[in-house]
Amino acid sequence: MRGRNVKDIMLFHNELLNSAARGDGPIWNEVWALNVPLKVRMFLWRACSNCLPTRDKLHQRRVRVETQCELCLQQAKTAHHILWECPFAQNVWALFRGRTQKCSNRASDFFLLFQQMQRKLSQQELEKWAVTAWAIWNARNKFYFQHFQTHPNVISEMASGLLEEYQRLMDTQ
Ligand SMILES: [Zn+2]
Repeated sequence: MRGRNVKDIMLFHNELLNSAARGDGPIWNEVWALNVPLKVRMFLWRACSNCLPTRDKLHQRRVRVETQCELCLQQAKTAHHILWECPFAQNVWALFRGRTQKCSNRASDFFLLFQQMQRKLSQQELEKWAVTAWAIWNARNKFYFQHFQTHPNVISEMASGLLEEYQRLMDTQ
């Protein structure tokens, strides 16, 4: 476990260096300010800088994959679709207690969506939002690789549990 963390951090460090070269600094600063586990910050940063290994990205790299979403069969397979507009994600967001429901979802890009949320949500709500997006991504991968569908309630509770546990731990340090 420990070895894996070190490897993750090394990989992430390389990504950050590449990102700094591209001038993504501001995104990282905003993501880094969130009081959420490192893996969630890494995930969010990748989603915001369009580096998640979504099918549209693989398609761009000419890997032969279907670009259709396997859950709703729409033709969009971007981070924004997967984490926000897909019915699979929307079923989880419907359980989210916060102001996300009232957000206009015009943003077609995940980073723009993140910025919208930053403006509309409190810090605590934004942290819950970030962990929920991470939980959706994980549940989706579980569906894709293990053919196991997680109930929206379970995804939502898992996200809340992870955040509470992390913040409690941080408070005691
Ligand atoms: Zn979909």
